[in-house]
Amino acid sequence: MKVIYPGTFDPLTKGHIDIVERGSKIFDELIIAVAENKNKNTLFTLQERKEMVEESVKNIKNVIVESFDCLLVHFMQQKGINVILRGLRAVSDFDFELQLALMNRKLYPECENVFLMPNKKYIFLSSSMVKEIATLGGDYDMFVSEAVSKRLRQKFSNG
Ligand code: ADP
Repeated sequence: MKVIYPGTFDPLTKGHIDIVERGSKIFDELIIAVAENKNKNTLFTLQERKEMVEESVKNIKNVIVESFDCLLVHFMQQKGINVILRGLRAVSDFDFELQLALMNRKLYPECENVFLMPNKKYIFLSSSMVKEIATLGGDYDMFVSEAVSKRLRQKFSNG
């Protein structure tokens, strides 16, 4: 069975990687779908975000990285996949994830949502927090892969 793990990944964190590792053990193929997301003002371009994901997950089995710029359910239908994987952190994620899951089900009734919880050390980790630390000159190495650290350093070295 195939599953799709969609997100903005601006940038990918160790919390995301934790979910990918867990998901790849349950499903035969896990597609990380990097969303264009024009509503969010992203720090990294779609191409950069996709490359960072590719570099960070290259050693995890059964994982493929793609990007999409349409409605998630349309992308899933094109690929013939009907399972969405999402990560659940603290209670604060629940409300938004429930809305999203029910809306996706309304648009694509065959679609099912699977939620996985990360290791507790990543429960409060988010891409926004990593960006905030980087902006303020803090140390983010423990929260992201080497590939992402490198890109963050490049991004902030002339800023
Ligand atoms: P989106 O814009 O779709 O929310 P994100 O890149 O922020 O994209 O997150 C993608 C998915 O990964 C979401 O399901 C989110 O809850 C989950 N996620 C984000 N950070 C973590 C983390 N630290 N641990 C587990 N799951 C996470």
